[in-house]
Amino acid sequence: MDIDFSNEHHIYNQEFPQHLCNMCGKCCKAITTPYTHEQLIELAKEGQEEAKVFTDIFKRYKSVADAKKAVPDHVENILKQLKKNNPKLDESTVTFYYCPYLTKENLCSIHSTRPDCCRRAPRNGWSLFPPGCGFKGWQFQQKERVKATVRKLKEYIIELELLNPDTKLPGRDKTAKEMIEFINEKIKPWEKYGASMW
Ligand code: SF4
Ligand code: SF4
Repeated sequence: MDIDFSNEHHIYNQEFPQHLCNMCGKCCKAITTPYTHEQLIELAKEGQEEAKVFTDIFKRYKSVADAKKAVPDHVENILKQLKKNNPKLDESTVTFYYCPYLTKENLCSIHSTRPDCCRRAPRNGWSLFPPGCGFKGWQFQQKERVKATVRKLKEYIIELELLNPDTKLPGRDKTAKEMIEFINEKIKPWEKYGASMW
């Protein structure tokens, strides 16, 4: 099997279909992070770039109830997912943010300088986007694409395991053993989405 590793994003490499956004604005009106607000501030003070950008741009809702008022279905959806991962979660400890740069017409008023997290959204098929988001079909397609690639990589590992581990692979600067390690590293980021079962 020949797999092109020249592009480190080979596993997830496709032009982004921005036109699918239906400009409902929901994703800019309720955002959460895996950190508490205090942790984010601390990270920003320590100079972590993403935390700095995030705390500069996004404003905090006073309560989960306020976020629910703004985008009920999206916030409920996020809380449901968080509780699935942590059934003991106290939802009042979750911090939601909104973006003050979203206009009444749901346009981004800082579009040309919007932060990376917005440029990359929805980052992949597993990003939790609001009900009605125009990227739903695209996200499904992305998931299937990634699953198919991971399966191919696993098949390649099986082929490599049949070789002597020290065999030099033609056209590669790796032995079979090194290539297996290399491929496993490529698969690792997808494990949190269930790659071990694909
Ligand atoms: S939720 Fe989806 S469709 Fe709505 S603004 Fe965000 S990306 Fe666009
Ligand atoms: S910067 Fe623009 S794209 Fe990003 S959340 Fe704000 S309004 Fe939305």
